[in-house]
Amino acid sequence: MFKQKISIVINTAIDRTQVYDEFEILMSNLVKEGQLIGGSETSFISGNELISFQTSLEEDSLSAAYFNHYTKERIEKIENWCGAKIQYEVIGQTPRSSICKCAQPESYILFTTALNDSGQLDCGTCGKVVPLYRLKQLSPQDRSDIISWEADYKSCDGLQLGCVVGERWGTKQMSDYRSQLSQYGIKICNRIRELTGVQTFYYLHNYRHIPHRKDIARPCPSCNGPWLLKEQWLGYYDFKCDKCSLLSVISPVTA
Ligand SMILES: [Zn+2]
Ligand SMILES: [Zn+2]
Repeated sequence: MFKQKISIVINTAIDRTQVYDEFEILMSNLVKEGQLIGGSETSFISGNELISFQTSLEEDSLSAAYFNHYTKERIEKIENWCGAKIQYEVIGQTPRSSICKCAQPESYILFTTALNDSGQLDCGTCGKVVPLYRLKQLSPQDRSDIISWEADYKSCDGLQLGCVVGERWGTKQMSDYRSQLSQYGIKICNRIRELTGVQTFYYLHNYRHIPHRKDIARPCPSCNGPWLLKEQWLGYYDFKCDKCSLLSVISPVTA
């Protein structure tokens, strides 16, 4: 991951609050497109410069080639107001990269956890993260839906990890194929497949205190067919139904 400094010099007498507010909306546009990750950090003004430090998956995540038309319009407006160009500068990177480099992934997996600070979509070939902006067929609304699902999933996982408020409810949302969260995620997976032609799997959480033999005997919750794999897929998934595009794992707390 890369740390980006995004800044613009305010060369005009434009109201600074007005520019600041528009700049903050620009940052949230970039988050919704997957060009920035982990939410957006608060921007600040130093002298006559408006500055923001944000995180991206790739060095060129903020390339103009990935801007949607809302982003382009907003950038143009801000640059006109300031009489200057927005500057993008990579100021550092994490030592490890977990970004997919495959030319054409065989499949995708919609995946996150409360502790995940990278992307929302994994590659079914290498298991690494695929930045959302690479899927050019997706509309801004499709990408925004993925970011909303991610936030909802993290909220449910947070309830589960907190173990105080709504633990059982949050766990059920992530585990039950029929839950509102799962159905939202599955709808997104179907949409990605429809637009890209690439099969997109949905992961069902499994953390149940039940006998191991009972856990591995459970069928696919959608088609009731067998889905236990002989070998783990991508070193993580134990259950995979190609027909229903569903994945799961053996519960880590079985007896
Ligand atoms: Zn890959
Ligand atoms: Zn199935």
